[in-house]
Amino acid sequence: MKCSKCDKEAITFIRYNGTWLCREHFMNFVEKRVKKEVRKQPFPRGVIAVALSGGKDSIVATYLMHKITEKDASREVHAITVDEGIDGYRDKTIKIAEKFCNEYGIPHHIISFKEEYGFTLDDISKVRRELAECTYCGVFRRQCINKVAESIGAKAIAMGHNLDDVAQTILMNFVRSDVERMARMAPHRKVQPGLIPRILPLRSIPEKEATLYAYLMGFEISEDECPYAVRAMRGIYRDFIMDLEKNHPGSRHSILKSFLELEDCIRSKYPPAQLKACGICGQPTSEQVCMACQLREKIMERIK
Ligand code: SF4
Ligand SMILES: [Zn+2]
Ligand SMILES: [Zn+2]
Repeated sequence: MKCSKCDKEAITFIRYNGTWLCREHFMNFVEKRVKKEVRKQPFPRGVIAVALSGGKDSIVATYLMHKITEKDASREVHAITVDEGIDGYRDKTIKIAEKFCNEYGIPHHIISFKEEYGFTLDDISKVRRELAECTYCGVFRRQCINKVAESIGAKAIAMGHNLDDVAQTILMNFVRSDVERMARMAPHRKVQPGLIPRILPLRSIPEKEATLYAYLMGFEISEDECPYAVRAMRGIYRDFIMDLEKNHPGSRHSILKSFLELEDCIRSKYPPAQLKACGICGQPTSEQVCMACQLREKIMERIK
């Protein structure tokens, strides 16, 4: 098949807009939409931190943020990697992240659960009861990233979430009737004291396209999946959305579009809570003690 935009051989078919694209036009197609997203979202001057796990999405997000800001003297991209302590899995992706940052000259910061909280996610897994590993992981990781971002003076944190992730989150919140959580989804337009706003440069890029982009760029990527991922509720939504997209191409974009139409209403109904410093760790929270400190206390009691 020929590319729909030039005479070269196509390497992929974009089902939701019916075009065949060659390597060059596919790469342009991805880069153009990421630039457009970045323009639409808050993109402050100064240090932009990217949460780099070492997985394909975060590698693509870090690379594209680096590429977009390369000639921009007013912005500098740093990468933050969290070592949750997942034996046999995270060690590998951290090495990939390190190598990647070295290659592109991106300052890289690594923070670990063990050093921050005194235990690894593997330790949590042994003593956890009702809550899944992902719940602990999400709370601690978010806080770790925020702490490092704050310490390097970052003005925004770019996350690697792609269109599939965002569509899953929107749908999940709808099904659970958790509109308030939907109102707190990134990109964050309001700057809260102590909480670095998050942005989503890959928000309109489907997962398959991020994977193909990473492959075409020759990035080293780990195919491994986190051993705790199987317990994640998200899997149900992933399967459902993949099925929906297969039968109705463009569904993921429509889910995002519907959210964007409602965004202002939702955010004005649920404005961000007034944040204060956690009485224990000083990180921003709407309660007296932040969720990370509450969970940490429970785990410490069980580990003793
Ligand atoms: S799958 Fe769950 S436990 Fe594993 S890294 Fe992701 S959030 Fe953490
Ligand atoms: Zn072409
Ligand atoms: Zn705290």
